[in-house]
Amino acid sequence: MKKRMSLQGFPVDIISYSSALDFVKNALDNGENLQIVTINPEMIQEAKKNKEFANVLHHSELVVADGIGIKLALKLKGVNQERISGVDFSRSLITYCAQNNLKLALLGAKDEVISTLVDKLKHEFKNINIVFSQNGYYEDENVLLQNIKDSHPHVLLCALGSPKQEFLIYRLKEMLQGCVMIGVGGSFDVFAGFVKRAPAIWQKLGLEWLYRVIRQPERFKRIFPTLPIFLFQSIIDSVKR
Ligand code: UDP
Repeated sequence: MKKRMSLQGFPVDIISYSSALDFVKNALDNGENLQIVTINPEMIQEAKKNKEFANVLHHSELVVADGIGIKLALKLKGVNQERISGVDFSRSLITYCAQNNLKLALLGAKDEVISTLVDKLKHEFKNINIVFSQNGYYEDENVLLQNIKDSHPHVLLCALGSPKQEFLIYRLKEMLQGCVMIGVGGSFDVFAGFVKRAPAIWQKLGLEWLYRVIRQPERFKRIFPTLPIFLFQSIIDSVKR
């Protein structure tokens, strides 16, 4: 169903969007924990410097390709992988929870964002069962983890930005049972309507990153020089092959 490949020493799963969803459903049916990472070039560059983060990536059960950078790097290895973005995938997970009466936990973003999101979801899905929701600016991580544990979620969407969200999920994996957890970055800001997502045509052309940089110029320093370095390394790797 999925084939794990290595990109500059880090895992990426070759899997279709629908198979990734089936993978999640299967884990939920079997009561397994699952850490899902939507990987991008910035995360790979971070993992090269940060051994603990690298360890988390290596122990994640599902690592999906988010963004054009990863798609291109895979293409250089002769692999066509569709993009699986955190925004789309977490949207599918929310819908699945609502349709199957599964317990959903939401952690992250600013207070006004998370409360708007909860209201929106309750309005959109009459049967949604949100057992936990909290903004991402907490003080005591141990208290937070215990509160999440006590809510017994089936699915946790964690929107703290990377690598914070991946570290938190990694800790939670030791505490929970039968929970699918995914780091979704800035998705709550998009869902709640505080940040506008790139129009479909920009997404289709693989230019969502450019759209985000134009709207939030402070993002520039996050992708430059990280993205070109990553792509350059990917080209070197493909030539070495
Ligand atoms: N955030 C948070 N707690 C923190 C730091 C960040 O909840 O301590 C939230 C922030 O409000 C935003 C998200 O994490 O909603 C990070 O969004 P960003 O666009 O940086 O993530 P990306 O999608 O680029 O990974």
